[in-house]
Amino acid sequence: MHLIVAEKNISARRIAEILGEGKRIAESKDTGVSTYSFGDTTTVGLRGHVVEIDFVPGYANWRSEESTPRSLIDAKTIKIPTERKIVALLQKLSRRADRVTIATDYDTEGELIGKEAFELIRVVNPKVVVDRARFSAITPQELKHAFTHTTELDFALAAAGEARQSIDLMWGASLTRFISLAARRGGQNILSVGRVQTPTLTMIVDREKEIEAFVPEKYWQLWLETEKSGERIEARHTHGRFLDKAAAEHARDRTKAPLVVTEVKFGEKQDRAPSPFDTTTYIVAAARLGFSAANAMRIAEDLYMNGFISYPRTDNTVYPPSLDIEGILKTLRSSPFKKDVEWVTANRRAVPTRGKKSTTDHPPIHPTGAATREALGDDAFRIYELVLRRFLATLAPDARWKTLKILFDAGGEEYTATGGQLIEPGWHTVYPFSEVQETILPPFATGEHLPIKRVTLDEKETQPPARYTQSKLIQRMEELGLGTKSTRHEVIAKLVSRKYVEGSPLRPTLVGRVVTESLEQHADMITKPDMTQTIEAHMQQIKESTRTREDVIRESRQMLHRAFDQLEANETVIGEDIRGRTAEEMNLGKCPVCEGILGIKHLRGNTQFIGCSRYPECSFNIGLPTAQWGFAVRTDEVCEKHHLNFVRLVRKGARPWDIGCPLCHHLNSNKESLAEIPSMTKALAEKILSQHVYTVAEISRSSPESLAKRLGIPLVTAHQLISDAGSVLEKLRRRSECRKFMRERLVPRKGRSPAKIFTALKELGITELSGLANTDAATLKKAGVSDTETDQILTEAKTLYYGQLLKDIGIPAVSLKKYIAAGITDPEMFCNQPPASLSKLAGVSPATVQRHVDLVCAYLKKPVPKKFTQLQIEKGKKELLGIRGITRAEMENLSRAGIINATTLLLADAEEVAADSGIAVGKIREFLAAIQKKKDNAIIQL
Ligand SMILES: [Zn+2]
Ligand SMILES: [Zn+2]
Repeated sequence: MHLIVAEKNISARRIAEILGEGKRIAESKDTGVSTYSFGDTTTVGLRGHVVEIDFVPGYANWRSEESTPRSLIDAKTIKIPTERKIVALLQKLSRRADRVTIATDYDTEGELIGKEAFELIRVVNPKVVVDRARFSAITPQELKHAFTHTTELDFALAAAGEARQSIDLMWGASLTRFISLAARRGGQNILSVGRVQTPTLTMIVDREKEIEAFVPEKYWQLWLETEKSGERIEARHTHGRFLDKAAAEHARDRTKAPLVVTEVKFGEKQDRAPSPFDTTTYIVAAARLGFSAANAMRIAEDLYMNGFISYPRTDNTVYPPSLDIEGILKTLRSSPFKKDVEWVTANRRAVPTRGKKSTTDHPPIHPTGAATREALGDDAFRIYELVLRRFLATLAPDARWKTLKILFDAGGEEYTATGGQLIEPGWHTVYPFSEVQETILPPFATGEHLPIKRVTLDEKETQPPARYTQSKLIQRMEELGLGTKSTRHEVIAKLVSRKYVEGSPLRPTLVGRVVTESLEQHADMITKPDMTQTIEAHMQQIKESTRTREDVIRESRQMLHRAFDQLEANETVIGEDIRGRTAEEMNLGKCPVCEGILGIKHLRGNTQFIGCSRYPECSFNIGLPTAQWGFAVRTDEVCEKHHLNFVRLVRKGARPWDIGCPLCHHLNSNKESLAEIPSMTKALAEKILSQHVYTVAEISRSSPESLAKRLGIPLVTAHQLISDAGSVLEKLRRRSECRKFMRERLVPRKGRSPAKIFTALKELGITELSGLANTDAATLKKAGVSDTETDQILTEAKTLYYGQLLKDIGIPAVSLKKYIAAGITDPEMFCNQPPASLSKLAGVSPATVQRHVDLVCAYLKKPVPKKFTQLQIEKGKKELLGIRGITRAEMENLSRAGIINATTLLLADAEEVAADSGIAVGKIREFLAAIQKKKDNAIIQL
């Protein structure tokens, strides 16, 4: 079998379709991974990297004494499968293969992915022939050529990729760990540092500092308005910017009619057709259409995989001679841009345009197949159109402009107006993405006199440099040799996701700035592009086999050790600096109660809340959902009413949860419960809010005196309010307890949410456990609870609710457990059956049962069931008094403990009776012995 290994599933399918040439392609799935077979050939797609480089075990604990951040520099690494199913299938297929062709992407990353596959294959089939197919577009022509001209894997190229992986892991892991530990940050709050990431962030921070340091300067511009053949014309003073206001005013005052035409200059300007797209120029052009760098790359990769455009990761801006331009034009004739293709074919320039960079790996990005909007969807089609039109533009003739420059004189001051007219649109015909602005002036003759309609002196200010847009930043990174064409957009996305930068254009967040500045101060090597450039140069040497991977990694280790020398020496300063300055990023604004600052507080174990900086003097706080729902961060938005920053909960892989203004949120979530306080009038409600009392809990915690004083209300009203708040709080507690109970017992089912059932139950009048315990199966079913759930819920609700009730009545836990185990849960049971039977059922001594019965019946206001007749009781008393050692007082105490005759005493537990009657246990034992003896005697007498 001939096995072809592609970089992704989609390219595996495309390759099979193209190489299969009309043969039936059999798709089969093995543990969810597809393969495509025709004849004796099978293709399988990886998912990019299917293994990952990581440290050998033993380095996971950040706080370990042995594996310090620095120890990660020299830590050994291993490769771990990340896509186990694909790895297993690849090895299974390789066992049967007699030839394997690696057909991953044609660049460093693709070569490394190919080498990883090669190593996995070698493990199971050491002898199989492995070759490599390289192509820049997934089209029939390219693929057929690549598969009939296969070569060897380029191990030097792969080694360069591997070296980059190792170095990135070692730098990223050790520095991230060091800085995070120094700043005492963990979990979702770590501070990441990276080899390419940090110098890139530094550029954004530096730009921000330039903007802040910028001092605008005033300047003045002078222009006038004239008219010719009813058309309004503007002319600028030829001095340009006046830096001196007096000089500008002087020139303005000297400007007097008539305006005389002194010179008319005609000219022509060539407007060169644009050069072919490399990755960077493509990203810049896509950004003008509103695509972020990451999005533009994702769409381009998709188009490549589907054979619509060539490989989008390229530094080349010169079409190679081998590129079949005629063939491409022919293919594109069946695209929706037929007319443009025909126009270009008819008006071709002699040689296509060329850019400055010529490399041999891939051609510039160009279209390779015909696509329609229906097939691609709007966004992908816009990108496809951009690439296609750019390709056409590089084949189209230059455009030509006719230019016109008029010079005027007005009282000795010189003015000028310029016009431009596109006389030959050339490439603009097929490339509408770059703006064409014509200014057409009417004809003028030298010596002509014109009126001056208006003279205007504009005062302006010089502007600070602009912040970086994503595409500008990518261009700058390329100039500095930071990252590669494949990684630059990912680095920027990472800076955004780690909250180091935000907005568009990009600006650093406080934490981004603090980390950068701290590193700059103590280990500036990490923030400067030089180090990264050096490493890139070393990569090149590995590719050219002039240096080994090990050698380059060794040098990088030394560089990193030097950085750590500086860092470790300054660890305390760095940590304190970052901690001190980033505290601000959690601040939200002024505390509504005092002069303090409200801030988000994160405690250990996922607890987070908003508290006041003046705690403990000011205890104002707002609760937040635990960090499991998302880590609370501040956003830029500010509440107009409360002047507090908004709060957002962010969780990896989930949509953020916007809390909004924390105080608005606080007010809203407490509105309903405050309204449940019966004594809360509208006036009172306004009063408490104005005094910053927001929750029922706060009211119930207050002392009547302080609340009366704070709200300016009578003491009696305050008393009522506090007592009402207490009841509401209790009601809320019971309600949430009931919901929790139901939620834990409802089996998750599609189309049925617990919330729905809660609403239905509320309508049926059940909001608390007591309601659940007293309801019946029919009611629960009506609310949407299933048959099986109903039984369980009813039984457990009774147990829980009555258990709680009995406990509140005063039944101790040990006995309660016995009652519940015996099914004695309903308190009514204590009042409508003889205690003796309860005692038997539960295995609790009769005396104790009697005491419990007394308690429960008193609580339920029901008569205590009588166990003995008055006569029996009198008889029992006599019996007890007849026992040696029992006095009248002791007899009374015993009967209070439920002992009414000798038999009950004999059956009871001595220690329990002792506890209940207050008689020493030793004495009780003496009584028992006496009864026993009397009994024995009675038997002897018989
Ligand atoms: Zn406060
Ligand atoms: Zn608000």
